[in-house]
Amino acid sequence: MVRHDLTTGDRCGALAEAHLLWQFWCLLKRDHGEEALAEAIRQQLKRPSLPPQLDSVVLDDLPESPGVYLFYGDNDALLYVGKSVNLRQRVRAHFASDLREYKEMRLSQEVRRLHWHETVGELGALLLESRLVKECQPIHNRRLRRSSDLCTWHLVQVAPGDYRPRLVGGQAAGCLRSEDLFGLFTNRREATDTLRKEAAAHELCPIILGLEKPARPGRPCFAHQVKQCRGACVGKEAVDVHSARMIAALMKLKLTAWPYPGAIGIVERDELREEEEVHVVNGWRHLGSARSEAEIQGILLGESGQGRFDRDTYNLLTAHLAKGRVRVRLLSER
Ligand SMILES: [Zn+2]
Repeated sequence: MVRHDLTTGDRCGALAEAHLLWQFWCLLKRDHGEEALAEAIRQQLKRPSLPPQLDSVVLDDLPESPGVYLFYGDNDALLYVGKSVNLRQRVRAHFASDLREYKEMRLSQEVRRLHWHETVGELGALLLESRLVKECQPIHNRRLRRSSDLCTWHLVQVAPGDYRPRLVGGQAAGCLRSEDLFGLFTNRREATDTLRKEAAAHELCPIILGLEKPARPGRPCFAHQVKQCRGACVGKEAVDVHSARMIAALMKLKLTAWPYPGAIGIVERDELREEEEVHVVNGWRHLGSARSEAEIQGILLGESGQGRFDRDTYNLLTAHLAKGRVRVRLLSER
């Protein structure tokens, strides 16, 4: 206080302290300006505020590399799995007060233990995150999608030129080795709602699509009676024309068939760190990631039962392979 030449006058106790603070504040404002003070306060509030149980040393140990992090709470329950291209930055952001929403704040206060896996690149982090979220079902991950009842529309030719959609399980679809699959849905209702919307938008017949039963054989569908079906149900539109229009309408949902004869390795390399990781994938299923030939062989040998088919992994693998300039090694013939 001497440094700033503040006085308490003849006040004492709490009032004196308040008076001192007030004088100090006025001096700071005079010397540094209101703007600079406000900025300093903002910076102070941004500092990670750790839950008392978590050692700040742990945050300093975090590498600035891509990877996946796991937050554990009481009784070592898994709370959250996240990924980043910079683990240190992302994890620290969880505890930075200026970024906090209520949910984020609740999560960061519940954390008791932190664990992370480094990966060579972003694809490895995405694949691992997707797998851990499905396998471990962390409490705070909202994108929980059970892949067990995934389904897709399979177009089956019942007569020459006459194609009908049949709902099949995503797993049963042979992990997408067929060319005639359309859409990936989390359940039967989502699948039929989508087909119903396409039927309405393209004046397709709900009876032919299997969405409606005719009142009596030979009777038109309800949509035809209100002029929303072109009449394939009563022979006014040829079934092959109807099929062609249906296929055109569903084309935007068409799934990419697995384009390789067997398992492949997607090579991800960090030139700076001279590290390489091979993601072993078959039928859009991520079987595991390896950093050596022995590990690759191990993954291939233990293939059965590993890496279930799921929508997130399918989406990120198709997007990644479509980018081009991806290094791919064929690892097996089936
Ligand atoms: Zn109809």
